[in-house]
Amino acid sequence: MGSDTNQKRSHALADVRNIGVIAHIDAGKTTVSERLLYFSGEIHKMGEVHEGCATMDWMPQERERGITITSAAITYEWVPVGTSSGTQINMIDTPGHVDFTVEVERSLRVLDGAIGVFCAVGGVQPQSETVWRQANRYNVPRIAFVNKMDRMGADFERVVAEIKTRLKCNAVPIQAPIGSGAKGTSEESFEGVVDLIGMREVRFDKDGVVAASLCDAGVAQQRRYTLIESLADADDEFAELYLSGAEVSGDAIHAALRRATIAGKIVPVLCGSALKNAGIQPLLDAVVRYLPSPLDRGKITGENPKTGGQESRDSDDDAPLAGLVFKVAADAFSGRLLFVRVYSGVLRKGANIWNPRLKTRERIGRLIRMHSDSQIETDAIYSGEIGVIAGATKFATGDTFCAEQAPIALDRMEFPEPVMFMAVEPKSRADKDKVEAALKTLADEDPTCQVRIDAETGQTILSGMGELHLEILRDRLQREFKAPMNAGKPAVSYYETVTGEAEGRHTFDREIGGKRQAATVELRVRAGERGKGNHIEVKPAKNTIPPEFTEAVERGVEDAIVTGVLARLPMRDVCVRVTGGGAPDADSATETAFRTAAIMAFREAAQAAAPELLEPIMKVELTTPPEFTGDLMGDLNARRGQVREMAMRGDTQIVTATVPLAELFGYSTAIRSLSRGRASYSMEPELLAVAPKQVKDKILQS
Ligand code: GDP
Ligand code: MG
Repeated sequence: MGSDTNQKRSHALADVRNIGVIAHIDAGKTTVSERLLYFSGEIHKMGEVHEGCATMDWMPQERERGITITSAAITYEWVPVGTSSGTQINMIDTPGHVDFTVEVERSLRVLDGAIGVFCAVGGVQPQSETVWRQANRYNVPRIAFVNKMDRMGADFERVVAEIKTRLKCNAVPIQAPIGSGAKGTSEESFEGVVDLIGMREVRFDKDGVVAASLCDAGVAQQRRYTLIESLADADDEFAELYLSGAEVSGDAIHAALRRATIAGKIVPVLCGSALKNAGIQPLLDAVVRYLPSPLDRGKITGENPKTGGQESRDSDDDAPLAGLVFKVAADAFSGRLLFVRVYSGVLRKGANIWNPRLKTRERIGRLIRMHSDSQIETDAIYSGEIGVIAGATKFATGDTFCAEQAPIALDRMEFPEPVMFMAVEPKSRADKDKVEAALKTLADEDPTCQVRIDAETGQTILSGMGELHLEILRDRLQREFKAPMNAGKPAVSYYETVTGEAEGRHTFDREIGGKRQAATVELRVRAGERGKGNHIEVKPAKNTIPPEFTEAVERGVEDAIVTGVLARLPMRDVCVRVTGGGAPDADSATETAFRTAAIMAFREAAQAAAPELLEPIMKVELTTPPEFTGDLMGDLNARRGQVREMAMRGDTQIVTATVPLAELFGYSTAIRSLSRGRASYSMEPELLAVAPKQVKDKILQS
C-alpha cells in the first residue's frame, strides 16, 4: 500500500476522464482495457485473457470463465500526442453478460463517457445493442473502437454501417484501416491506420506505434471529406468555418469532434487490434480529445431531503460535498470498500459525511485510489473523481453522501428484481454463523443478490439474476468465504401481488405476562404500478395511532409484505395506506400490539384484494437463418412466448419475443436441434407479470 499526501488536486477538472468500456461479450473489452493500462504505463506486463490473467478480471471465477463480472475502477494517466500535461483516466470495467446488466447500469450512472468495442468480424451483436441502449438512457457520449482488425474476414466498412443502422447513431470514421477492412482480406494483412485528421499513416508492431508518415491523398482524401461533411452537418461553429472557405486545421476538427461527440451528435470510430497492440495509443488520444470531462457533463441534480425541493450541484471543489456510492465490495485487506464518484466538493479523510437515506453521519477513516495492482492511500478525492472509501459501514450501493449542512439525495439507482433462487444450507449446525455472514456480505456487495429466510420452512433463500449469477455466487461462497454449505437447484422466483383494492382492520388484544397489550390498525391495500415496487404510507386520521407507534405499524406492514398471502412469497407492486386505528388506553398500547395488528390487518386486506402470482418474463432475441423461423416460432408459441418484432438483418432473421422464464429451461438445447445448430439467442429480464391460472394452480399446489 502506497500513500499520496498531496494536498492539491493532481489534475485540473478539465483533465479528468471517467470512462467505461462497453461491448458484447468476446468483442475484446478485457483485452482493450488491459492494453489501455499497458500503454499508459499503468501496468508493465500484459496479461492475455486466454491465459487467464488479465488485470481487470480480478475474481478467480471470471478468469476461469474468461468473462468480466465485477466492475473494477482503475485510475491511470495518459499524455496525449502533442501535449505536455497528462490526463487522469478513471476506468470502470463493465461486464458483457446479460446476467449482470445491473453492473453495466450502475457503471453508466457514474461514467462521463464510454468506448464501445466491436468485433471487426462479428459486428454489432444483440448484446451490443442492449448496452448501447442503456448508454443512450444515461446520455453517455461514446467513441467506437472496431477491434480484431487482424482477423480473417475483418470488415471495417460493414461494421461502421451496422453501428449506424442497428444502433441508430451517427458513426463517423476518423481512421481508415491499411491492409485490411475489405471483404476477403486474409489474416495478418492488417498493418495500421490512416489518421484522417492528420492525414498520416500510422503503423504498429508489438510495441504499439512504430511509424507515422504522411499518407497518399486519393482514397484517404475522399474519406476525410466525408468526415468533414459529417462534422459540418453536426456542428454549426464548424459549418461556419468550413463554408467560409478557410483552411480547416486539425485542431479545428478535433475541437468540433469534441463538441459533436459530447452533444451525442457524432460517434467517432477508430479501429485496431488490441491483441496485436495496434491502435491503442490513438484510442487513448481520442478518449482525452473527444470524451467529456466532468465539467462538460454539467450540474448533477437531486432532492433536498428536508424540503423535497429540487437541488443541483456544480462540478466544483468549492461547492458543498455530494457524491454517489456506486459499488460496495469486500476486500480481504481493507475490509468494506465503497466505490464512489464525487460530483461536487471534496471528500476528505477524517471528515464526516452525511447519509441522507439513513439520516446518519459517518467519519471517513481511509480514502484510496485504486490502481491495477495497488491501493494508494490518499487524503482527498476531489470533485469529478472516482475513488474508494474504506471502512465506512452503513452506506449501501446507490446511496448519496453529502455535507450535513447542505443535504442532497441524488436520484437512486433502480435494480431489477431477482428472477431465480436457490436454497442454501450450512453443511452442519456449527457452520451456520459462517454461512450467514458470507451471505450477508454477498447481498451487501450486489444489490441484485438477495437473501431471505422462508417464514415457514426456515430455509435460507438466495436469489439472483439467472443461473450463471447463482452459480457464481455459490462458487464465491465456497472459495472466497470458505463457507461450508449445500445449495439446492436453481429455480424461478415467483412473487405475489394484489390486483384489486380492499380494506383491512384488526384488533389485537391479549394479556402477555400479566399485562394487557391492545391496539387496532385500519388500512387499505391496492394494486400499484407494475415494476414500481411497494409503497407504504402511514397517514392515520388525527389522534388515532400515537406518533410513537407509527414506526411499529410500518414495520408490521413491511414484515407482512415479505410473506404474501397465497404461497408465502414476497409481494411486489403493492400500495398500502394506513388510515386509522388506536389503542383502548395509553397503558395497554405497545409496539408488539401495533405491529401485530398491522400484520393481521394487512393480511386480511390483501386476501380480499384479488391476490395473484407474478412470474418473471424474459425478453429473448433469437437470431436464425430464415429457413428455421417457422419451427422456432412454433416452439416459442409452445413456451407461452409472444413475438414482439421480426426483422431481417442481411440474410439472418431476428425475432424478438417475450417468454416466461419458467418456460425457458432447456431452451438452448431445443433451438440447437431445431436449427441444426445455426440459431442463437440472448435474453434479459423484462418484467414481472401476473401468471396465468394454470401456472398459479401448479405453484399453489406444490
Ligand atoms: P471480452 O469478453 O469482451 O472481455 O473479450 P476478451 O478481451 O476476453 O477477448 C475475447 C477473445 O478475443 C480472447 O480470446 C482474446 O484473446 C481475443 N481478442 C481480443 N482482441 C483481439 C484482437 O484484436 N484480435 C484477435 N484476433 N483476437 C482478439
Ligand atoms: Mg472480458
